[in-house]
Amino acid sequence: MATKSRILVTGAGGFIGHHLVKRLKADGHWVRGVDVKHPEYEQSAADDFRILDLRLRENCQEATRAIDQVYNLAADMGGIGYITSFLAEISKNNILINAHMLEAAKQNDVKKFLFSSSACVYAQYKQKSPDLVPLKEEDAYPADPEPGYGWEKLFAEELCRYYYHDYKFETRIVRFHNVYGPLGTYDGGKEKSPAAISRKVALAADGGKIDIWGDGHQTRSYMYVDDCVEGLIRLMASEHREALNLGTDEMVSINHLVDMICKIAGKKLAKVHDLNKPQGVRGRNSDNTLLRKVLGWEPAMPLEKGLGITYKWIASELKKKKVSPELAEVAGD
Ligand code: NAD
Repeated sequence: MATKSRILVTGAGGFIGHHLVKRLKADGHWVRGVDVKHPEYEQSAADDFRILDLRLRENCQEATRAIDQVYNLAADMGGIGYITSFLAEISKNNILINAHMLEAAKQNDVKKFLFSSSACVYAQYKQKSPDLVPLKEEDAYPADPEPGYGWEKLFAEELCRYYYHDYKFETRIVRFHNVYGPLGTYDGGKEKSPAAISRKVALAADGGKIDIWGDGHQTRSYMYVDDCVEGLIRLMASEHREALNLGTDEMVSINHLVDMICKIAGKKLAKVHDLNKPQGVRGRNSDNTLLRKVLGWEPAMPLEKGLGITYKWIASELKKKKVSPELAEVAGD
């Protein structure tokens, strides 16, 4: 590690933020975590953890005081069921967080600010086929992102660029493709597909059935959380100010994802497809050409291995909580 920095992670009570705080602490930095809640499954490793609602300007001012770098991960977000249900609420909350965080960080002389965007910014008309061409960064334009969540992420990316244009304020923009791993939400409606499917498989009896949202032919790529954290740290250290994909290019269909998790669990389950449930775009995969060029690196965890670790953690959590099978029905993207 080069120098010890004072780093703020917002969304430190959430999935990626919690893992990032742990890694930054292990690297020897001083870390402040901010969120509206504490991490759900483990205590935060942050030196200073503050409960603050970052939709409020004064709270962003407090959070960014005496800080060198900001990883702005706080956001109102969830799986496909959640983000397609709450368009105004999600947009309003995240616009407030991002606008106030950028301005407060600039005013408090933060040196670098990383904004966590999403593959949901990509134009929907380019994602109509399950075997689509992987998405390059320029495929976000002409703009046609996911309603609500995708539009506010795309505009916040622009806002980061404007802060560099007008004030020379150093911003970094990462576009995550689905991130999974242990210590992530796996129930309640905000979980994403690997966690939702792991929970359903863990709760199903061998030889039983599993409900799947859509026909299961929709495709995605999935990145293990340790790779995500490594990529974030590398991007922050880079000179790259334009948006960058961070994901794997190992594309799988949801049906295949279910088969992989069933194999890990040692269970045979009949798939029941619910075509009335939201399923998001037909296909999505990351083109990692620019990622490899800018970071000299790309995510390495094979999906089957990462899912094995994740499934084991979710199954043990369910066992600890003695969750009953009737809670197994909620699912996300
Ligand atoms: P998460 O929901 O686990 O974490 C987000 C955290 O932000 C939560 O703990 C939440 O309480 C906090 N938050 C929400 N509103 C807040 C507010 N007003 N003030 C303070 N904190 C607030 O999500 P995550 O998976 O860790 O995602 C982190 C970031 O990455 C988010 O910006 C998300 O949009 C983005 N992202 C994640 C994925 C993924 O696959 N996990 C994919 C694309 C983009």
